[in-house]
Amino acid sequence: MGMAMANPALREELLKFEPTASLCYQCGTCTTVCPMTDYGLNTRLVMKLVNLGIMNDWVRKVIWLCTGCGLCQENCPNEIRIPNVIRFIRLRVINESRKK
Ligand code: SF4
Ligand code: SF4
Repeated sequence: MGMAMANPALREELLKFEPTASLCYQCGTCTTVCPMTDYGLNTRLVMKLVNLGIMNDWVRKVIWLCTGCGLCQENCPNEIRIPNVIRFIRLRVINESRKK
């Protein structure tokens, strides 16, 4: 997978946009309840990578599967605003494609 370097600046930006993201402890509940898991969206793994400042090809692809249903956030033990984290990644991907 290309573009898989950890980027501390990306993590800082994420936490400005959505401070609750740092509370993820990788319990996996979001992946269990997400209706798009069967289609390849692994929310827990998205949270892990973006918290490390990693936006690889896999993340760039699977974030578009999210419907914004909010089940992940409702069930997350730390009430992390996961749909907003996904929104952050989408905006990054869109901004990057505009610069090309
Ligand atoms: S449910 Fe919340 S704490 Fe658990 S992995 Fe998902 S985002 Fe992280
Ligand atoms: S908001 Fe997105 S990531 Fe969260 S459960 Fe719904 S489809 Fe999955």
